[in-house]
Amino acid sequence: MPKHRWKNALLTAAEAVGAIDLLQKTGREDGQSLYVLAYHRVEAPALNPWLDPADISATPAQFAAQLELLACRYHPVALADVLAAQRGEYSLPRDAVLLTVDDGYSNFMDEIFPVCARFGIRPLLFLATGCVGSGTYWWDQVYQLIHHSGQPALDTPAGRFPIGSPEEKARARRELLFALKRMPGDQRVDWIGAAYDRFVRPSANPPRLTLSWDELRALRQAGVDIAPHTHSHPILSQIPLESVRAELRTSRNLIEHELGECPPVFALPDGKAISYHQGVIDLLFSSGCAIVFSMLDGRARVRPNSAHLLLPRLGVWQGLSLPHFHYRLTPRIDRPTR
Ligand SMILES: [Zn+2]
Repeated sequence: MPKHRWKNALLTAAEAVGAIDLLQKTGREDGQSLYVLAYHRVEAPALNPWLDPADISATPAQFAAQLELLACRYHPVALADVLAAQRGEYSLPRDAVLLTVDDGYSNFMDEIFPVCARFGIRPLLFLATGCVGSGTYWWDQVYQLIHHSGQPALDTPAGRFPIGSPEEKARARRELLFALKRMPGDQRVDWIGAAYDRFVRPSANPPRLTLSWDELRALRQAGVDIAPHTHSHPILSQIPLESVRAELRTSRNLIEHELGECPPVFALPDGKAISYHQGVIDLLFSSGCAIVFSMLDGRARVRPNSAHLLLPRLGVWQGLSLPHFHYRLTPRIDRPTR
């Protein structure tokens, strides 16, 4: 039996006897602990040929089950609660959870927001403003290059990738994304843009895949918090600090202009340790970000009276069983917070 099957079988048994509930209760009760969940897309796999199914966080059924668990056994909080806790004006409830969603795909409107509303959960949407209403993020263009260009191979700055067979496509996706994330911003943008215009755009007719400003205004009216996640979603460790500043300024100004307000929080694109460095964090803090969210796995601590916080988030992926989801929301993964 593969290792993950053993793990799932163990976690299912642990859930059945109440062991994960017990584990959940072992944490400190100090009004500072917070689980921050990070979602991307919620949709049925293989429904959308234009977007990478690997970026689906949950199917609609999984998402509904996860939110039901949050509503029954946790205390979902809103961004305003977290900011009040940071100011020292509010003590977070035990088992506090903040639900965040990255990027701004249109299925937020159809699949994510209605379920949040049903369970009384107020999500925080991190928006990459450059793709509002128009459609394709750079990694979607890479996916479409691999799957819809009709080419036998792609010549890239990271080498030549054959993309004929499903195995070659999978390998190209994995290795090319790995290489592109480590490439200087201009080089990455230039290659993807030129290749996409040449091989995909002439024949492709993808539907609108991202939220429009009208939809975002409706979501804001309905209580969704909407905060910046850069303008063009570069990997911030690979671009000059001046460009990081411009990415933050542009996305913040657009959100303020279109939605009337912009909360002082920010989510790092990709969010893993290789995707930012201390200079990026210092710049974000000095530019007015009270909280910066990474994708380092772990439970966050919202220290009161701290001007700036860099908080980890818990990623969610398709194939995560409900007992494993519950197990991730236990204090076993406390991570020190700066
Ligand atoms: Zn993102």
